[in-house]
Amino acid sequence: MFQAVAWVRRGLFHFRAGLSVRMNSTAIDRKGVLANRVAVITGSTEGIGFAIARRLAQDGAHVVISSRKQQNVDRAVAALQGEGLSVTGTVCHVGKAEDRERLVATVLEHYGGLDFLVCNAGVNPLVGSTLKASEEVWDKILSVNVKSPALLLSQLLPHMENRGMGSVILVSSVAAYIPQVKLGPYNISKTAILGLTRTLSLELAPKGIRVNCLVPGIIKTNFSKVIHQDELYWNNFKRQHQVQR
Ligand code: NAP
Repeated sequence: MFQAVAWVRRGLFHFRAGLSVRMNSTAIDRKGVLANRVAVITGSTEGIGFAIARRLAQDGAHVVISSRKQQNVDRAVAALQGEGLSVTGTVCHVGKAEDRERLVATVLEHYGGLDFLVCNAGVNPLVGSTLKASEEVWDKILSVNVKSPALLLSQLLPHMENRGMGSVILVSSVAAYIPQVKLGPYNISKTAILGLTRTLSLELAPKGIRVNCLVPGIIKTNFSKVIHQDELYWNNFKRQHQVQR
């Protein structure tokens, strides 16, 4: 998990400032490093997204968290506010246009703009054969994992540009590089995120907006239960990745 968060931090900081912060990150009091910055993180009520939200808020950013279920948003907001962090939240299923609009409206209402967008929400409704995946499954995976980050960013971009800088992190997966058996459409969607990152980084560089990609390995969350709770699958994964434990 810390590995993943470290990669995000590299992407969020401007590279000139980021180097010194990274090199000294264990030695300094990080509170306030992101003071007055606003971070929006999708799929952030648990797992990797929640950890990113907590860390950015601990570093001083105002954080907007979101996910599909109101009770999860309420629980996550309460937990982080209980730690004294500046956090607000709203429901946003990233595959739904009206929810993306609500997220944008929440960001503008509370903060008037944003500096960081982390597109973390991702789904995998299929464990099975790639060629037996239904059109519905393909549409869901590609819509949530690939299309939604681009569509959400297109709505938020003007409000990032207004603040004179911006940083976007798209969350891919080790599956983009090493396809996981039975997760075909998911693997493909995460490979597409690499292309989306490269394309957007070229398009947005002239505007001063950086686009980077986070590529987590296997992190023990609800999402990865299919891998780490299935002994056969996990052993196969360890063989593929030469994990020593
Ligand atoms: P997780 O623990 O299951 O958390 C997923 C989060 O996303 C929850 O807050 C969930 O809340 C929300 N969410 C799910 N579908 C959503 C949607 N359509 N719109 C908005 N929010 C949604 O998952 P995770 O393991 O942290 O995974 C996060 C990201 O990391 C994913 O993109 C995944 O592909 C990637 N990743 C994970 C691993 C790993 O090993 N865990 C490895 C590589 C990459 P609600 O249920 O309330 O929506």
